Amino acid sequence: MKKNPFFTEEHEEIRSVLRKFVAKEVTPHIDEWEEQGEFPLSVMRRMGELGFLGLRYPTEVGGQGGDYFMSLIVAEELARCGAGGFPMAVAVQMEMATPPIMEFGTEDQKERFLIPAIRGEKLAALGITEPNHGSDVASIQTRAVRDGDEWVINGNKTFITNGPRADFVLLVTRTAPGSGYKGITLFLVETDRPGFFVSRKLDKVGMRSSDTAELILENVRVPQANLLGVEGKGFYHIMWELQGERLIGAAGAVGMASHAYELALDYAKTRRTFGKAIGQHQVIGHLLAQMATRIEAARQLTYSTAYRFARGEVPAKLISMAKLEASRTACWVADRALQIFGGSGYMSENVVQRIWRDVRLYRIGAGTDEIMKEIIAKEMGL
Ligand SMILES: Cc1cc2nc3c(=O)[nH]c(=O)nc-3n(C[C@H](O)[C@H](O)[C@H](O)COP(=O)(O)OP(=O)(O)OC[C@H]3O[C@@H](n4cnc5c(N)ncnc54)[C@H](O)[C@@H]3O)c2cc1C
Repeated sequence: MKKNPFFTEEHEEIRSVLRKFVAKEVTPHIDEWEEQGEFPLSVMRRMGELGFLGLRYPTEVGGQGGDYFMSLIVAEELARCGAGGFPMAVAVQMEMATPPIMEFGTEDQKERFLIPAIRGEKLAALGITEPNHGSDVASIQTRAVRDGDEWVINGNKTFITNGPRADFVLLVTRTAPGSGYKGITLFLVETDRPGFFVSRKLDKVGMRSSDTAELILENVRVPQANLLGVEGKGFYHIMWELQGERLIGAAGAVGMASHAYELALDYAKTRRTFGKAIGQHQVIGHLLAQMATRIEAARQLTYSTAYRFARGEVPAKLISMAKLEASRTACWVADRALQIFGGSGYMSENVVQRIWRDVRLYRIGAGTDEIMKEIIAKEMGL
């Protein structure tokens, strides 16, 4: 019987290649990258060379022509490195900052931004959040004003993943003041333009192998050719982007939860107390059963939603449900996994404590739990 009806043999082959790559070229170095607070850019280039960054992109833009399930496999397999940071950086590169270029970009924009990102030669970031506006995307204030054939951009962005070293940022700006979600426009902004500054590299609780920045834009000039999509339609474009971002977040959360569960299961089979393996104490055995059940439920919701997304539907309610449930499951599972390890789970040398810290972000990034519930409730007619 096939392992899972959503995956073909080709998917499983790619999964096995990725698993070997992660075991050989990511996991052995992840402690060092976590310590340094960033991953080396060479590993992004390596993933580009091996074709992993373009698995679901068409061959015309240097991709491998696979489907959306390839992206889920990347998210799940990278999670096996035992940290969320580097996988998040890859997800920003391929599933957040670049899909809008494929969807709304010109040939020239694909040439200048998408193709080098797929090759791993240019690092991409997504700039939505501002110091005063996170969940309320329609209120963002970073201002872009037209000046002849150019646009002049001023504003601040914060919590920007890949921000400290990005080569370009897909930036959400306001081009019409006072018109709410109707006055928003997207730009592709090269970070070497005069007036673009990384004001701070931010220190974080977890996701430490991913670097995060606060950005300042002071009279940054970009040509009209860098406007992405349609002027004034940026809110719709970014809401489209957020659907994919949430779904890949759900896949990452499921991957991290599975990894924590597998570690706890192995430990429960070998660690002995009161004359038997701790998994033989019914309370621990049942807890592991419940962990596996919740992970499977979140996984199947993610897969079945992805099945529709891969066919061009944008099932916003299901995507929000998958993101909400997978994130909460990951936090719940990681906490129980740490408990199963007892004191050793609390030691820095144990991967499970890192997963426990890292998964907390899933309930905040790409739209918080509360925003997911808002969307679900609205879709229910409330
Ligand atoms: C490590 C990290 C990486 C990130 N990477 C990026 C990135 O690459 N690019 C980017 O643009 N952003 C990024 N973010 C930002 C992230 O998307 C935001 O933090 C998130 O959307 C929440 O926004 P906020 O922090 O401004 O919180 P706020 O919007 O201020 O919300 C604060 C609290 O109020 C709640 N709340 C807000 N509105 C409502 C409501 N209507 N009903 C009920 N409760 C509500 C929220 O759920 C939350 O609990 C990142 C954040 C982190 C921590």
